[in-house]
Amino acid sequence: MADCCAVKTPSKVEEKFNCPKCGNDGKKVEIVTLKSLLVPDALAKLSPQNSYRMCSNETCDVVYFNEKEEIYTTEDVKVAVFQKTDAEDCPVCYCFGWSRDKIKKELEETGESTAGDTISEHIKAGRCGCDVNNPQGSCCLGNVKKTVAEYTSQHNN
Ligand SMILES: [Zn+2]
Repeated sequence: MADCCAVKTPSKVEEKFNCPKCGNDGKKVEIVTLKSLLVPDALAKLSPQNSYRMCSNETCDVVYFNEKEEIYTTEDVKVAVFQKTDAEDCPVCYCFGWSRDKIKKELEETGESTAGDTISEHIKAGRCGCDVNNPQGSCCLGNVKKTVAEYTSQHNN
């Protein structure tokens, strides 16, 4: 039952809303990320006054959604989205071009990965542009470490 007596206080806390397709609560992305990565036709429908979240559920094709249940799918994004595909050529680090197959190849050839250290150096030097390059709008290092760990365990089995 709705609580009709509750005082509705305007709050700066982000309202919770979930992916209209799969129910995932998603992660907040800044509007600049959508402006950088949406294809022109999709960008032409952007509502920049709304807040957008990213659905990271790999079986759902929704990439971004807002509180009005407006969605953008993988087809509306210029790049392959790491969370949404198993493609080997999909970037893991969008800024410095570490795709899954590049990470895999280095591991096969040398037995170790320089991806994490190389990317960390670039981050320290202030070269990283995850907010405009990476569809998740935030640092890729977690995904890079996860990918390296996955391939390392496959390699050793
Ligand atoms: Zn979803």
